[in-house]
Amino acid sequence: MTEVDMDELMENLAQCRRCGICRDAVYEKMGFDGVCPVWKNTAGFETSFMRGRIQVAIALIEGRLEKTEENAESLYTCTLCGSCTAICAAEFDPAKCLESVRQVLNEIPNEVRDTLAKKIIENNNPYVDENKTRRNWVKEVGFDIPSTGEVLYFTGCTAGLKLPETAISTAKVLKAAGVDFAVLEDEPCCGSVMIRTGMVVEAKENAEKALDMILKSGAKKILVTCAGCLKTLREDFSERFGLDMPEVLHVVEYLQSQVTSGKLKLKKSDKTQKISWHDPCHLGRALGVYEEPREIIKAIPGMELVEMNTNREAAMCCGAGGGLRSYDSGLAKKIAADRIRDAEDTGAEILATACPFCEHNLKDGAASIESNIKVLDILDLLAQRLE
Ligand code: SF4
Ligand code: SF4
Repeated sequence: MTEVDMDELMENLAQCRRCGICRDAVYEKMGFDGVCPVWKNTAGFETSFMRGRIQVAIALIEGRLEKTEENAESLYTCTLCGSCTAICAAEFDPAKCLESVRQVLNEIPNEVRDTLAKKIIENNNPYVDENKTRRNWVKEVGFDIPSTGEVLYFTGCTAGLKLPETAISTAKVLKAAGVDFAVLEDEPCCGSVMIRTGMVVEAKENAEKALDMILKSGAKKILVTCAGCLKTLREDFSERFGLDMPEVLHVVEYLQSQVTSGKLKLKKSDKTQKISWHDPCHLGRALGVYEEPREIIKAIPGMELVEMNTNREAAMCCGAGGGLRSYDSGLAKKIAADRIRDAEDTGAEILATACPFCEHNLKDGAASIESNIKVLDILDLLAQRLE
């Protein structure tokens, strides 16, 4: 379904009771000590959290507010992290509604949104002109990886082009686990950012093209390391676009039993390292994958998992999602720095996650406050400990 049901959307938006709990509620029992990462890291105006965004959305849709880029700004300074949805007691999902609002108001000019979509349509990724370079990391793994096969590792744009070490680590771990896998020759973008920023018609065309390439590779199972790719390929491709998808799994879901059973052989360690876990919003709140990565970390010799004050459903966002990293990189970095401070408070030496997009932004946040904490992907941790 690419069309938004306007009656349903307006009914949903009207559900907001304007209670303001989604701004800064403190629920110690559940670990909430803040809700909206944008509100926490901006001057605190009403439109910097969901209650105000909803009123702006309604006014723009009803025509009481002129449809200008400036008036629509608060619709885009949101990571769609779902933290407000997790705590809202009204009968609707505010973050999902905002995603639909972006779609129905996508005629309002927005250069960042349009540039991102144009790059993905023209180049198959949002980062570089020459998409084929995203497979360069394959030359560094030390073994051949075919481009066809029943198990496909869908690398994702950020691992392929910005953090190839994650892709290399994943390949090494999959090989050690005895998995025969393929990586596409000219892998396309999954289109996650187009969906989140309201370019849903374009995203559907992209999805059909991407699935065609995936199926031509012979894939019966798709493995991903990016939480955004996971939500998009697993949920949006099938439920939103009605595409018949092979099974899609995050590598942490796929490998959990191999690691916890000891089937994947890991080196012993004579020292203990404290490690904290950042739940990517698309992996945790969106798809409920909370325990698999924690079980993996606990099974790595010498790793002691220390939780941040906000974790699982209450985890604060890294700041990158919903297009915010492109729309306002300074704000995205401030939110990431906040999350780094949360991790530092645990005494951890390492902050691990399972999404290159989170990792990329958290690394920028750590650098901005000169933090010594190491930000790594969980696959890097495993690769470092392979026997
Ligand atoms: S979105 Fe939910 S939590 Fe936020 S003000 Fe509205 S009803 Fe309250
Ligand atoms: S989705 Fe996240 S960033 Fe957006 S309003 Fe809700 S809590 Fe704030």
